[in-house]
Amino acid sequence: VGEKPLLRFITCGSVDDGKSTLIGRLLYDADLAPDDIIAALESDSKKHGTQGEELDFALLVDGLAAEREQGITIDVAYRYFATDRRKFIVADTPGHEQYTRNMAVGASTAELAILLVDARKGILPQTRRHSVITSMFGVRHVVVAVNKMDLVGYSEETFRKIEADFHAFADHLRFASIYVAPLVAKDGDNLVHHSANMPWHDGPPLLSYLEGVAVEDATRIAPFRMPVQWVNRPNLDFRGFSGFISGGNIQPGDIVRVLPSGRDTRVARIVTFDGDLDSAVSGQSATLTLTEEIDISRGDLLCSPVSPAKTGDRLEAKLLWLVREPLVVGKSYLLKLGTKTAPAAVTAVDARIDIETGLPQPLPEGSTLAFNEIGGARLSLETVIACDPYGENRETGGFILIDRITNETVAVGMVKAVAASNGRVA
Ligand code: GDP
Repeated sequence: VGEKPLLRFITCGSVDDGKSTLIGRLLYDADLAPDDIIAALESDSKKHGTQGEELDFALLVDGLAAEREQGITIDVAYRYFATDRRKFIVADTPGHEQYTRNMAVGASTAELAILLVDARKGILPQTRRHSVITSMFGVRHVVVAVNKMDLVGYSEETFRKIEADFHAFADHLRFASIYVAPLVAKDGDNLVHHSANMPWHDGPPLLSYLEGVAVEDATRIAPFRMPVQWVNRPNLDFRGFSGFISGGNIQPGDIVRVLPSGRDTRVARIVTFDGDLDSAVSGQSATLTLTEEIDISRGDLLCSPVSPAKTGDRLEAKLLWLVREPLVVGKSYLLKLGTKTAPAAVTAVDARIDIETGLPQPLPEGSTLAFNEIGGARLSLETVIACDPYGENRETGGFILIDRITNETVAVGMVKAVAASNGRVA
């Protein structure tokens, strides 16, 4: 009740496919753009005089993303808007050199991806690459935005060919839904209103589709997970454990298991600044007090005792390598998963994912990963951690690797399986 559902999405495409124009025009046509930005847009468009009287909708998005220039370290800018039916968060993923990295970060929290295709060019290797990365990072729903239909004379035949090509390629990626839409982002065709130029298209305008598309909120139905961010101990009478709930829900009286120690205890209260809660769900931050005094520290994972996370110090994972210096097998990196940090070494890279097909290719012993490559790897950690397969929970199954000298994030990873070094699968 009350709360509008949220949809997180990401736009993916090559430079100049029309990503900025698409979002800018969509907000403008739906009357969702802030007034001050519209005023700036009108004067800017006049100044630059790009297309006579026409507004340059890409400028609208640049205006909204101005914050990006101030925060140099922020790779992905998140933009918020809402209609009567739904709230939206769009991940804007800039950068040519670091595009894959930014896309991966954006995709890792998105439920839907809009893949832009230039109608004149059709499905390109880039489109396949973006689709594979999108699917790999757990995005289950895609919209293929076949843009610039004006430049192919609004041809249904051209559109149908692109639609068929995409389906032929993407079937094995097993998206839960695919909607292919013919658009002219620049003029607003099929964004908020049906296009009179393409009467043969009977699907909904993009915004209506986004408002209505059903995406399962995987973390809500997942078993309870809360990585402990800090132990809240303002005085001797109070000891709370604070963190962001990354799966399921919790109520006072519920039993929780503390990992990796494996001890069970019961939730006494869910404390907030505005009083206690009867329950809390994934996506919320919470402070829990427990009925027993047991040893819990930052980095521990509180979880459901019925479906607990796995523990171990050996990981099988997929890695996307983000930097120019290739991965060094055997070198000690820092692995960060949730609130836990542990020294870790990659002991082997045994497969490389063909980025255009998504299929793994076995690699000979001693292989490594280079810039922008994705591979299957084995990691050995110095301590036991608790985690889930990425396919079951993106928050407790996703991690990054950090170079211990430069402090740079060198890889993002997805857990496939966990084991303990004594050979026993935890
Ligand atoms: P981005 O790099 O993907 O963000 O692309 P932009 O939104 O900056 O658009 C690149 C160029 O394509 C700009 O000159 C836009 O005006 C133009 N453009 C965007 N959408 C359309 C369209 O549907 N039709 C035509 N003809 N041009 C478009």
